[in-house]
Amino acid sequence: MRLGDPERAAHGTVGEMREGLTVAEAQELILEATPTLGAETIAAFEAADRVSAEAIGSTRRHPPADCSAMDGYAVRRSDLSGASRSSPVTLPVVFEVPAGGQATRTLAAGEAARIFTGAPLPPGADAVVRQEDTTALAGRGGGQVRIEVEPERRAHIRDAGEDFEIGDRLIEAGTRLGAAHLGVLASVGRTIVSVHQRPSVAILSGGDELVEPDRPADAGQIVSSNSYTLAAQCREIGARPVYLGIAADRPEAIEARLRAGLRADVIVSSAGVSVGDHDHVREVLEKVGCKLRFWGVLMKPGYPLAFGVIDATGTLVFGLPGNPVSTAVTFEEFVRPALRKMMGHRALHRPVIQATLSEALRKKPGRLHLVRVALAARDGRWVATPTHNQSSGVLTSMIRGQGLAVFPLEAEVLEAGARVAIQILDTGFFDQAQRGF
Ligand code: AMP
Ligand code: MG
Repeated sequence: MRLGDPERAAHGTVGEMREGLTVAEAQELILEATPTLGAETIAAFEAADRVSAEAIGSTRRHPPADCSAMDGYAVRRSDLSGASRSSPVTLPVVFEVPAGGQATRTLAAGEAARIFTGAPLPPGADAVVRQEDTTALAGRGGGQVRIEVEPERRAHIRDAGEDFEIGDRLIEAGTRLGAAHLGVLASVGRTIVSVHQRPSVAILSGGDELVEPDRPADAGQIVSSNSYTLAAQCREIGARPVYLGIAADRPEAIEARLRAGLRADVIVSSAGVSVGDHDHVREVLEKVGCKLRFWGVLMKPGYPLAFGVIDATGTLVFGLPGNPVSTAVTFEEFVRPALRKMMGHRALHRPVIQATLSEALRKKPGRLHLVRVALAARDGRWVATPTHNQSSGVLTSMIRGQGLAVFPLEAEVLEAGARVAIQILDTGFFDQAQRGF
C-alpha cells in the first residue's frame, strides 16, 4: 500500500491514519497516546533528575530547636543595652553549649554562655553575639567575655522550624528531583523515594547501505551513526536505550528485529519510512500489530515520520527519517517530549529563547523549518547565525549549533535582524555563555 507522497503533503486521512500533520498536531497526537509510567522505589541518593511519584510531607521539625547560627556567646539583650566598642560590657561565661550538645541550665541575668554554630540556644538567652564582636578574658571557671556590641533582637538565632514544621508539604508529586530536593528529603529522614519509571527505548537502524562504525565501509556504504545519536539523546533525559542493530531492507529482516523490540516501552527506528521502493518499515509495522496514527509531518528536516502504537503491548513506535539531522531533530521534537511524559515530567519541551537573526532566511511556505543556529551573546542579546550547511545529511551542522530557529510553516522570509524563537538543544551551552552578559 502506498500511503502518500510527501510532495503532495495533503492534510488527509487514510483509514484511521492521518497524513501531513503540522508539528503541533503531531505532538498533540503523540502525547495523547503516551502514558505516564508507573512508580518504582529507589535510593534517594541515586534519585537526582528523577520525577517524584509521591508527595513528600515533613515528619520532622527543622531546625528541631532554636539554635545558634554563629560561634559566639548566648546572651540576654537586656544586659547589653548601649554596649559598644568604646563602652563594652563584661559578663561571666557560666557554661558552654557545644555543637550536638544541650544547654545544662537556664541563662540568668548578667550571664553569658559560650555557644557554637548549630548548638541549641539555652533557655533564657534571646540573642547570640558573634565571637568577632567579643574579647575572651581569663578568669575563674569559663572566664569572662568583653562584648562590644548591642545585639539586635534574636540576632544570629535560627528559629526552631524556620525551614519546615511537622506536617508541612515539602515536595509535590510530579516534581523533578534536583540537588536541593534530595537534601530536603534527607533532612526529613527519607532515604528512599518513589519515582516514575524510566522508559526502555529499542533503537533500530535500517538500510542495506549501512555498516556498523567499527566495520570497513566501501564507497557504496554509509556508516550507521543514528543509533549512537539516538542512544545519547535517550540517555540525556534518563531513558534506557537498547540497541536492536541494523536491519537489511527486507521485510523479514525488519520484522525479526522489530519483534525483538516489542518488550520495550518505545521503539525508535530510523530510515525506511519514506516512499522509496525499499522502504518496508511501515508495512512491517502493520504486520506486527502496530496501528499507525499518522504519517508525514509538515516540517524540514523530517517529513517522513510515522507514529503508531502496538495494540498488544502498548509499545509506542516512532519511525523516524534516516538522514542523520532529520533523525536527531525529529527525536527532539516528537520522541523526547513523549519520553519525558512517560517519566512523569511536566515540562516536556526544550526551553525557548528569543534571538536576533544575523542573516536572512528564505523558504517556500507549507513546512515549518527548524534551522540549526549557533548562538552568541552580543550587547546583552542573543544573536543566532545559521550553521554552514543545512542539508539533513550534514550532522556536523548540529555540532556547530546549539539551537533550532523556528521558521514558521507559512512564512517565506525571515529578515536579518528579525526576532526569532530558538529551541535550545545544548543547555550546557549556557554554562559557557554566561560570561557574554
Ligand atoms: P532512508 O530513510 O532509508 O531513505 O535514508 C535516508 C538517508 O539516511 C540515506 O542517505 C541513508 O543512508 C541515511 N541513513 C539511514 N540510516 C542511517 C543511519 N543509521 N546512520 C546514518 N545514516 C543513515
Ligand atoms: Mg533506506
